[in-house]
Parts: sequence; structure tokens; C-alpha cells
Amino acid sequence: EQKKYQFMLRLKLPSGDMPSSLYRVLDDISMEFGNNTLRATTRSSFQIHGVLKQDLKTVFQKIIKAGGSTLGGCGDVNRNIVTTPAPFQTPEYIEARRLAYVLAEILAPQTSSYAEIWLDGEKAGEIEFWKRNMDMKQVTELRSFDNGRGIITGDPVEPIYGETYLPRKFKIGITVPGDNSVDLYIHDIGIVVISEGNEIIGYNVTVGGGLGRTHNKEQTFPRLADHLGFVRRDKIYELVKAIVAVQRDYGNRESRMLSRMKYLVHNMGIDAFRELVESYFGEKVEPWRPLVAWKHEDYLGWFEQGDGKLFLGVPILNGRIKNDSSMQLKTALRVLIDTFPHIRLNVTPEQNLLVKEIEPSTKEQITRIFKEHGVALVEDISVIFRDSMACPAFPLCPLAVTESERIMPNIVKRIETLFHHCGLSKVPLIVRMTGCPNGCARPYTAELGLVGQAFVYKDKVNEAELETVLEPLFAYYRLEKQRGERFGDFCFRKGKEALLEYAQNFNPE
Ligand code: SF4
Repeated sequence: EQKKYQFMLRLKLPSGDMPSSLYRVLDDISMEFGNNTLRATTRSSFQIHGVLKQDLKTVFQKIIKAGGSTLGGCGDVNRNIVTTPAPFQTPEYIEARRLAYVLAEILAPQTSSYAEIWLDGEKAGEIEFWKRNMDMKQVTELRSFDNGRGIITGDPVEPIYGETYLPRKFKIGITVPGDNSVDLYIHDIGIVVISEGNEIIGYNVTVGGGLGRTHNKEQTFPRLADHLGFVRRDKIYELVKAIVAVQRDYGNRESRMLSRMKYLVHNMGIDAFRELVESYFGEKVEPWRPLVAWKHEDYLGWFEQGDGKLFLGVPILNGRIKNDSSMQLKTALRVLIDTFPHIRLNVTPEQNLLVKEIEPSTKEQITRIFKEHGVALVEDISVIFRDSMACPAFPLCPLAVTESERIMPNIVKRIETLFHHCGLSKVPLIVRMTGCPNGCARPYTAELGLVGQAFVYKDKVNEAELETVLEPLFAYYRLEKQRGERFGDFCFRKGKEALLEYAQNFNPE
């Protein structure tokens, strides 16, 4: 008998947006073919775990028929493009979403193998819901336009990727000034929509971010992006293509662990990298436009969309949609979409879920559906739970070296108790944890990263030592924090030496 291999599959969901009809199909698939859970991811998508090899084709077909896609969810291509998830109706927010769809399409792999393998050759393209409002002819032209400077490979099938695709996965995040719900500086390319009055005039672009590193390999590191500069609105497609082409042609293809674009940017330096991009782009990139200060937004709770409708941000503990003894989250969402089929859902970059397109008259009914199923909404959870995030790790990720998702609720509770003990009740704290240094849940940009943080405070902390290691830090924070200062900013201000010194001389009461 053949072994029962099981797979994880991941959707491609630009901007994290989906109609409830697609969610219904995913929910059905998780029950019939998966492990009866759905996993919202940090790239605003869904993963389904536990699909058996023999069922893959059926599952793919169901997703594609429902208007979804998995093409480019994995592989050495542009991955799911994340945007600020808020469905606000201002020109900047609308533009962030539009750009995500168009770029996702320009950078989608063009091979027909996907359709051949999963759809018996039937074409999938036209049925994806996010393509419906797009001028596909224009997208094809944008994809294959060649300015004569080497952006296009000449490969008849894959004009941008060529025969060998990219050296490694490639990630893009898009947002608007002030809204850092996407963690702008951790993407290969970060884009900020810039407007004057109500008119979109262009975009600020960052390059070279990325959080992954390889266990015990010092030459690998998490890196925050550099400012590439500003580009006029109509030039963004060519600029993005030029950056992708630079990584395609100059990225490291010898060592996979050093193949992300961040190492290329790091090794060349941003100025030389910019010049190289400009040689493909055909013109100068303009200086970076000044921006207002960033805010960490999670959009949990009730908001007005700006078109008379509401949206509700629902916290999903570690992104796992399931039923358990404490809450029937999965059932609640199913009841919700069956009762209000017109609503849309949006996975956020923090693995939460926004319910969109809500008529204000149904607000109470929707709240009731969640409450009746024991689902904790934002007012029911603590500030630390609100900002905590873990990757799946054991038993679902083959790269995991420690637990993460399964022990996170307990770890967060212990940190909360300690915070309380140190006199810091109700003070917010961003805690993130991963099961390996790859950093999928972005621990390196958390205030407390259980793997690492903005700098590595301590290596190889045993789970049992957690309180002993953290108590001096929290006590120090309580003692010397400035008004309104976050834990992460405090640690940054003090620096590693001062923290270690305080910890060494610390006497718990
Ligand atoms: Fe990502 Fe590592 Fe967590 Fe796996 S264990 S999900 S690779 S961070």
C-alpha cells in the first residue's frame, strides 16, 4: 500500500481579501480533506494542513473553481502580496489594494504546467475573482513590455522570470503613510502610496528587507530594508520589474541560504544597488519623500469603512481557525457567512480576520453570533494576547526545532503574570514566537521575540527559565520607562549592554 503522505497547501490571496463563497469552500475542504482547521498566515493568506496526496487534485480543483488560486503561494517567485488590510475607501487605501492585484498578476508565473497538472489542461486564469475587475490585456502588456535594458528575458513563456525563475522566494508589502500594519521594512520590496490632496502621485519604495536566517549560520541574518526612493505613479510597474530583474540576474544562486535579495542589497550597499536598478529601469529613482510617523495598526474591533458600511476585526489566536472546548470559532464564521453571504473576509498580516461589508443594522446580530459561540472579540482579550503571534512549528512545519503555536498561549499567560508582578498591568507588549530562526511570525520586529528581537538579548533560553530571564528586563522597564514609552523602544534606547548589566545586578524581591 502507498504511504499516506500529507501536504500543506497555501492560497495566493493578494491583499488577503476573499469573498465568503471562497471561504465556504476552504471551510468544506478543511473538514473533508484537511485536519478541520484553517490557518491564517502572516502573509495574509490561508494554509490548509493535512491534505493527503491522493486528494490534492480534487482540493486544487475545488479552490480554483471557487475563484481562488494557489499558484505562487510557494516557490522561487513573487509570493502573496500583503497590503494594509483595512478596507477604507480613501484613494490611498483603494490604490494600495489595486496595486497589489496588478503587481500580483504581472509577477504571476505564466507556465501552463499548473493547469496541466491540476486542471487537466483547462485554463484557470479567467475565473480568479481578483482578476475580474482588471484589464488583463493591459496586464499582459505591462508584464512583457521591454525597455531594451534587460528586464525581459526573452523566454517565450516567462518574460520576467525566464527559465530559471528567481534565486529564492520574493515578498512585497504595500501600505499607506502612517499605517504600518504590513511591517514595511521586512519585505524584499516595500511600497508606500504617496498622494497630494486626493491625487495619487507616486510611491516610496524600500528594498532588501527579510527576516529569515538559518540555524547556526552566522552569515545569515534578519535585515530591515533600505530606502530606494520615490517613483512617479505610472513608473511603478517598470521599477518593480527592474528590481526583480536585478535579483534574478545578480542574486546568489550558489548558496540557497544567502539567496534572498537582502544579501544582495547588503553586500552591494544601497547606493550601488540603486544604480544597478536604475540601469535596468532606464532612469533615476527620485529621492525618498518624507513620511508621517508609523503606527502599529491591527484593526481589531469595529470600524467604519467610509462607504456607510462597517468592518469588524476578529482576533484569531495564532491564526488558527478551529473549534475547541473554549470557543467554536470555526462554526461561528460558518454561521456568519451563511447568514450574510455578501460579506467579504480579509486575512491580516497579524493572522487575524477582518469581516467586511457589514450593514450597520446587522452589527448586533453579528456580535451575537460570535458571543453565542464563545468567540473572544478584542474587548475580551488582554493587550498582550492582542499583539501576540506564533508560527505553526511542531507538528506541522518540517523546519521546526522547537514548539511555537501549541505552547504560545501558555507562554503569553506567564509573561502577562510576570508583567503584572512587575507593576506593568495593561501595558501593551508585542510578543512573537517561532519554532526556528526562519522567523515566519516576524519575531525580529517584535518587542519581545522568542527567537531573537531587534537585537539578540539572550541565546538559547530554556522555556523553564523564561520568568528568570525576563523579570529583570520588565522591572528595569517599569523603573525607567519614559511616559508612553513602549517596551521595545525602551530596550532600544537603553541598548543591550545596559540591559545585561541591570539584569546581572538584579535582586528579585
Ligand atoms: Fe516558519 Fe520556522 Fe515556524 Fe516553520 S518553524 S513556520 S519555518 S518560523
